[in-house]
Amino acid sequence: MGSDSADVLILGGGFAGLAAGVGLSRRGARVVLLEKKPHLGGRAFSFRETGYEGPIDNGQHLFLACYRETRKFLRSIGTEDRLEIADGMGLDFADSSGARDRLRSPTGLPPLAGLGLGVAALSGLSLRDKWGLARFFRRASRAARNGGFAPDLDAMTVSEWLLKEGVTPRGRDRLLDPISLAALNEKSEVASATGLAQVLAKAFFEPGADPRIAVARVGLSDLYADAAERAIASGGGTVVRSERATAVEEGPEGRIVGVKTAGGAMLKARTILSCLAPWDLAKLDLPRSLRGAWRDLRPAPIVSVCLWLDRPLLREDEKLIGLLGTEIQWVFNKSAILSGNGGMRGAGQYLSIVISGAHRELAWQPKALIDVACRDLARCFPAFRREWVKNAKVVKEPFATLSGAPGAEALRPRPGEMAPGFRIAGDWTRTGLPATIESAVLSAAMACAGIS
Ligand SMILES: Cc1cc2nc3c(=O)[nH]c(=O)nc-3n(C[C@H](O)[C@H](O)[C@H](O)COP(=O)(O)OP(=O)(O)OC[C@H]3O[C@@H](n4cnc5c(N)ncnc54)[C@H](O)[C@@H]3O)c2cc1C
Repeated sequence: MGSDSADVLILGGGFAGLAAGVGLSRRGARVVLLEKKPHLGGRAFSFRETGYEGPIDNGQHLFLACYRETRKFLRSIGTEDRLEIADGMGLDFADSSGARDRLRSPTGLPPLAGLGLGVAALSGLSLRDKWGLARFFRRASRAARNGGFAPDLDAMTVSEWLLKEGVTPRGRDRLLDPISLAALNEKSEVASATGLAQVLAKAFFEPGADPRIAVARVGLSDLYADAAERAIASGGGTVVRSERATAVEEGPEGRIVGVKTAGGAMLKARTILSCLAPWDLAKLDLPRSLRGAWRDLRPAPIVSVCLWLDRPLLREDEKLIGLLGTEIQWVFNKSAILSGNGGMRGAGQYLSIVISGAHRELAWQPKALIDVACRDLARCFPAFRREWVKNAKVVKEPFATLSGAPGAEALRPRPGEMAPGFRIAGDWTRTGLPATIESAVLSAAMACAGIS
């Protein structure tokens, strides 16, 4: 590999590394991207496996219409149309007593007004619950507009914040906890209030806010990984897979000059851009100038259960449903989402079931997870029968996202230069967003500013 000639050596081929690679090679930089795994996509990829129909994501990912940097990146590689953005704001819920509820807002309304109407129409909440939520949203939106949220928010958990603002337990259980857990990947007793404030601001309060949900109509790797690799190659860049960085080398004047690999190579570049997750970056042999408090950041897991049924459980227009009062939290109708792109042939249905903040469930055997998924589906959808399941697969991601507990925000370094010659990006850097795909892509743009 002619690594000596690289302008920028990018470590990691997830959303951040690929977005940086595409952006930089389009600007004329000679890029080399190093990825330790045989496939690209990092924590957002898909695979196929003999015996299972359709692409399997390493876990269902949700996008929002307000993921503007992500959409710009997808547009730049020609795949934005592989995202399906819902027409309006809407979320369906099913609870463990079999009752259904629906948060919907008419199209065309400003997001906050739409949210207010949506909450008012929820059937599972009392007037008092709705009043508590309305007051919370009003106060949170005012704070977001008037120069941002109070700094003490990061010392508080989501549940402490909601209690302080007078949200009722039912308002929490049936609306804000499920949204917070999905967005922050930690229960509201664990997640920092900062994360929820960031999500609400982006989706509802900021100029350009847009809470409409989007999903990939294809497997995640088909959404971006392959197309991004092609775009880097067509810009003259090189993607090296199955090669792991092991150490970062400092030159005599404190400038970072290169990276050693497990294969024994020493790769040099004018700029090294790490797009590794913090726990992966911390495994490298790092000079003192790169070590810091960020090494205390911790991951949070997600467990997914994919089920292939011999008949449909959900309607074609029910793409995702939030489950309330259950161990499993969201069920995605992959047959409808992937419709025509390898969902499931014949009369059956392919479902993907998500457990976020799955610290406990991570240790469970696949059979126990499948049993719990079937038990909860039967509670929420009384027609469901376990005998309908003809195939099942469990995917565990112990290092799914950053655990955004109180105090974590202050440990997130800003994307950009960490030491001369060394920059960082990745979802976990301090972008003003929770550690999500949008944060990863935005961090890449921020970290690449000023690199030619
Ligand atoms: C199951 C699951 C569900 C999720 N759901 C959502 C969701 O609904 N919405 C959302 O926005 N986000 C979601 N996320 C989070 C999202 O996937 C991440 O925020 C995003 O993919 C992070 O991208 P990244 O490029 O910052 O990091 P990564 O994807 O971690 O990329 C880093 C890359 O570096 C590579 N690497 C590591 N060490 C080395 C080394 N030593 N040398 C070379 N390469 C190395 C890794 O293999 C990896 O490919 C979810 C994550 C998971 C796992």
